[in-house]
Formats: sequence, structure tokens, C-alpha cells
Amino acid sequence: MAITKNENQLVHCAHCNSARLHQRTVDIYNRVEGDRAGYRTTVDFDRVNTVNSQAGNPSPRRQGLVIALICEDCSQVSVMTVAQQKGCTFLNVDKAPEQYRHLSDSQMLDYPLERT
Ligand SMILES: [Zn+2]
Repeated sequence: MAITKNENQLVHCAHCNSARLHQRTVDIYNRVEGDRAGYRTTVDFDRVNTVNSQAGNPSPRRQGLVIALICEDCSQVSVMTVAQQKGCTFLNVDKAPEQYRHLSDSQMLDYPLERT
């Protein structure tokens, strides 16, 4: 999939191909080029956590971004990743690795979406 300027692409579930996906956890990876160390900031609704870790970074040497997507039709978790490598930026959608699979549909529904 190549996305060009001002082009909107519909993202599909990596499990059942449905387009009904909900964005959930966002992991942002940042580090200096080639450094093994760097920070990961996780945003999950109103919770934000930053740790010194690159575990799960889709880029082997640079910045990366992972958006966990929960499918409204099959309740499985997919991930959309953005990875910088050798001066290029790669966008991918795939089945979620193990660390995201706990984000089930039931957990999403248990979370208070509206607050008083
Ligand atoms: Zn699905």
C-alpha cells in the first residue's frame, strides 16, 4: 500500500478484513539514530506512561509508532505500524503481536467512555 499526499485510505482488520476498527492503545517510540536505548510513550485513553524501552518498536534503528486497532466485527486486535528505516517511512497493518492481544473487545466496553 502506497499512500500519497492527500489520499485517504481505509484501514482493514488483519484478521477478517472488516473496516470497522477502533483505535485503542498508541505506542510512540523515539530514539537517536541507531541507539539501542530510547523512550516509549504509551497512550491508552486517559493513561499516559513513558518508559526507557524500545521493545516492540517496528523500526530496528529509528523512530516507530504502533496503533492497536480492535475490530468491531471479530474482536481481534490488529496493529498499524509506522517505521522509519534508512531514510524511508513504512506503513503496515498486521495481526497484533502478543503484547497487544490482551486488548479484547470486552475490556474496551468495560472502560468508562463517558465521564461525569
Ligand atoms: Zn476483524
